[in-house]
Amino acid sequence: MSDGMQPTKYVWSDGSLIPWEEATVHVLSHGLHYGTGVFEGIRCYATGDGPAVFRLGDHMDRMVRSAKAFRLPLEWSSGELTAAAKELVRQNELDACYLRPIAFLGTGSIGLNPRGATVRTMIASWVWGAYLGDEGLERGVRVRVSSWRRVSQDSLIPNAKGTGQYVTSVLAKQEAIIAGYDEALLLNALGYVVEGSGENVFIVRDGSVWTPPISAGVLDGITRDSVITLLRDAGVDVQERLVSRADLYYADEAFFTGTAAEVTPIREIDDRLVGTGEPGPITRQAQALFTEAVTGKLSDYRHWLDFV
Ligand code: PMP
Repeated sequence: MSDGMQPTKYVWSDGSLIPWEEATVHVLSHGLHYGTGVFEGIRCYATGDGPAVFRLGDHMDRMVRSAKAFRLPLEWSSGELTAAAKELVRQNELDACYLRPIAFLGTGSIGLNPRGATVRTMIASWVWGAYLGDEGLERGVRVRVSSWRRVSQDSLIPNAKGTGQYVTSVLAKQEAIIAGYDEALLLNALGYVVEGSGENVFIVRDGSVWTPPISAGVLDGITRDSVITLLRDAGVDVQERLVSRADLYYADEAFFTGTAAEVTPIREIDDRLVGTGEPGPITRQAQALFTEAVTGKLSDYRHWLDFV
């Protein structure tokens, strides 16, 4: 498989653990044609006390909210999905992994009216390393403002993780990679900075940290929330405020946050160095605090860990 993905033993599928190879869908699934699904991305980390899933309940709560927004009749509660995810990690005998819950419309209706379509809910897990590469995590990534705008709330639901709305992220990511960059930064319809194709964005100006507010059309990232909390608790001034394109160019530091990307420094934006081009002190502090929190080394944040 691409991405170096190694199959694991089981996939959780509507209440049972089935072999990885059998986790397939019919070609006439509604979700395949129209993007009618919701999903999550979650990480489980190896800690001194065994594997722990980071903010699992918060991710499953977000999945339930996404389903509500898209009127997808999810048949499982957040608590049931949380238990299922932990059972899957246990049975797949994984220490550290990525988890991908997804719920989508299956067969039974192929018209746009989804009434009558079945709802399928599945969770897969596998070992996934640094999303933007080990070098990206260490030295920072090169990004470019995308020609594609982030989905706006007059046509889609930016705060939800609907499968269909990720087509914009795919277009933006492809465009960035083909042009020789690592990641894209998307603006909203008004031209304000929103986020990466699959990450929230932060910049540092004169010792203050700025990140676009949810109302700018960002996903309410769980890593974003964690990093805001960790930095504020450490005494750093963090502001949710509109970020302009000029703010990007004048930033002393910039970084992405996301479950897959974790805390990844940004070293160049639109062919301009961010600060000196080296990850700055607040970026390093955010990275260190986040790594310590997810691996259970900070007692104040142990409640974020769900031990399997
Ligand atoms: N924005 C987008 C568009 C995303 O897909 C993601 C990944 N879920 C994020 C931000 C980061 O969210 P989280 O920290 O919850 O993974």
